[in-house]
Amino acid sequence: MSASSVSGKEFLESAIKQFEEAADILKLDEGLREFLKIPKRTLIVSIPVKMDDGSIRTFMGVRVQHSSARGPYKGGIRYHPSVTVEEVTALAMLMTWKTAVVDLPYGGAKGGVRCNPKEMSNSELERLTRRYTAMISSIIGPLTDIPAPDVYTDAQTMAWIMDTYSQLKGEPTPAVVTGKPVSLGGSEGRAEATSYGVAVCVRESAKKFDIPLKNAKIVIQGYGNVGSYAAEILHDWGARIIAVSDSKGGILLKDGLNPYKVMEHKKKTGSVVNFADAKNLTNEELLEIECDFLIPAALEGQIHKGNANNIKAKVIVEGANGPTTPEADRILEEKKVKVIPDILANAGGVTVSYLEWVQNLQMFRWTKEEVLKKLEDKIVKAFNDVLNHVEKYRIPFRKAAMVLAVERVADAINSRGIWP
Ligand code: GLU
Repeated sequence: MSASSVSGKEFLESAIKQFEEAADILKLDEGLREFLKIPKRTLIVSIPVKMDDGSIRTFMGVRVQHSSARGPYKGGIRYHPSVTVEEVTALAMLMTWKTAVVDLPYGGAKGGVRCNPKEMSNSELERLTRRYTAMISSIIGPLTDIPAPDVYTDAQTMAWIMDTYSQLKGEPTPAVVTGKPVSLGGSEGRAEATSYGVAVCVRESAKKFDIPLKNAKIVIQGYGNVGSYAAEILHDWGARIIAVSDSKGGILLKDGLNPYKVMEHKKKTGSVVNFADAKNLTNEELLEIECDFLIPAALEGQIHKGNANNIKAKVIVEGANGPTTPEADRILEEKKVKVIPDILANAGGVTVSYLEWVQNLQMFRWTKEEVLKKLEDKIVKAFNDVLNHVEKYRIPFRKAAMVLAVERVADAINSRGIWP
């Protein structure tokens, strides 16, 4: 995935700006506005790790809890060299809105560790994860704050968190994290959940904007947890995946790529680049390809004022969190490019996290079909709820989703009141 083109500070400023715009539309009380602009709690930790060569390195870690108005804090943990407290704060805020848009009984949080997992061994990552878990264990818990995977963390990372937390508490506590391996109480369907939600949003917007899904031209930036499964699902639904990329670059094949073969190639060579008959191109070029649906599924700030004018997609469905800057949003609006925003488009992940958590708390097991059906119902409902706000307020999808979310969170705060 290519590096983010915005700093953590800029990303946080744009998250606050988006919130303020929704607050203006809702004429939100000034006090409530101040309250929701700032996270409830931020815990910054220095994580010492013994590296394989015997040396000790210290990594910055953080967990930001933005709001618990609607339920326990919820949100992933990312491992990335560019993690900052501001970036994680913006992402925590987005989680509050995301869980509200899909109407899950959660608040919003996010965690991050500034490290480069690509340069670390498995055992170094295990020690880092266990120590980070121990250091945030006083503020996470199955009924307080439930982490999950995010950029460069996965089911294995969640297994280590679950085990460390359970050892510290002296009892098995699977519901403390979601996105676990199925053998440890993870849910069927969680691995591809975010992508499934993205695909459902592509399908629903295809219907709404009269674009036939059959042979629809799809471009995907990022071939990790979100991008690769989204390519496979949409390919299986008859769409044409014409270009995909990862951090090393992209590939284009106008007749359509076979995403399963692309994944085999990536597993073998470490990248999608140099795939069979496809043409290599840069991540920047990829974003500007003419297509029906562009799915940014990498990092934030990829579509910015410098390239928004060159976007030739009809619809952008945001698989990543914050891939479009507010300046780019305005340009896209003028160009009549529709944007299905992150807090709706990529909510499939946290939705199946919720289903996993419910199964853990009740010691249930659902089949993949049951899980995907519940996921689909939730995303379709959220899509229609947002669409109603688009029509009611005559605003673009992102603003509509934000208004819906802020409305729901403000309602919860007003009903609960401020204690004491
Ligand atoms: N990291 C994912 C997101 O940004 C999933 C969060 C979760 O499942 O709690 O939505």
